[in-house]
Amino acid sequence: MTYKSTSISFIVAICIIVWLHFFSGISLTWLILPGSVYLALAIYGTSVIHSNFYGRLYCYANTSEKEIALSFDDGPNQEYTPKVLSTLAQYNAPATFFVIGKNIQGNKNILKQIDAEGHSIGNHSYTHSYFLDFKSVRGFKDELNRTEESVFKVTGKRMKLFRPPYGVTTPHLIKAAELLNYNIIGWSIRSLDTTNDTAQIITQRVQTQIKPGAIVLFHDTSDKTVEVLKQTLDFAKENGYKIVSVEQLLKIDAYQ
Ligand SMILES: [Zn+2]
Repeated sequence: MTYKSTSISFIVAICIIVWLHFFSGISLTWLILPGSVYLALAIYGTSVIHSNFYGRLYCYANTSEKEIALSFDDGPNQEYTPKVLSTLAQYNAPATFFVIGKNIQGNKNILKQIDAEGHSIGNHSYTHSYFLDFKSVRGFKDELNRTEESVFKVTGKRMKLFRPPYGVTTPHLIKAAELLNYNIIGWSIRSLDTTNDTAQIITQRVQTQIKPGAIVLFHDTSDKTVEVLKQTLDFAKENGYKIVSVEQLLKIDAYQ
């Protein structure tokens, strides 16, 4: 079920009901039926990142190899990104950082370090605003372009990976990302590391869902995540899982 096929079915259903109204006298109240189904599907498509309702999203890799990818959203963060980086270095594990453009100012050295240590960088919008979902295609392109320029100035690289803020996808956002040649990246394991849950509960949540091809969503914004990361890396090691970058797992390019 995609946005396009749903919209076409919706229009066809409306035409049939209106036709039946004029020729067989059925009530127009029947229009509520396709209307509610359409609304429910649109809400589902917007809020569930794996739905692929509005377009193709990469949420995991189809593989039987014991490989997983770790991703960190919402940095670069002055206090916590360096802690995440030093933990990853201890385990010799690569990761992918989806950065917010406005956080780069004042943290350019951290962004440079992420790149220099062999991790990949992805776009996570410029403002990460709650009102992002109401933006037009042009508004989204602007969000993506501003972050791209900031990252390019520091690393000399043009990103090809994009993660939608809050995991919310809209037709405008998908269109903008596709026009700018981005691969849209979701996740298969949401750690929920920004909630009030303890490190132990979060670790448990992640570990029980680990399987070949998984992409884990973390945020480099707290000490708790650093703790969960250590436990997750230990678990991966003990269970024979190899940590790879998102682009390696998905066999796609991180940069243009
Ligand atoms: Zn985010």
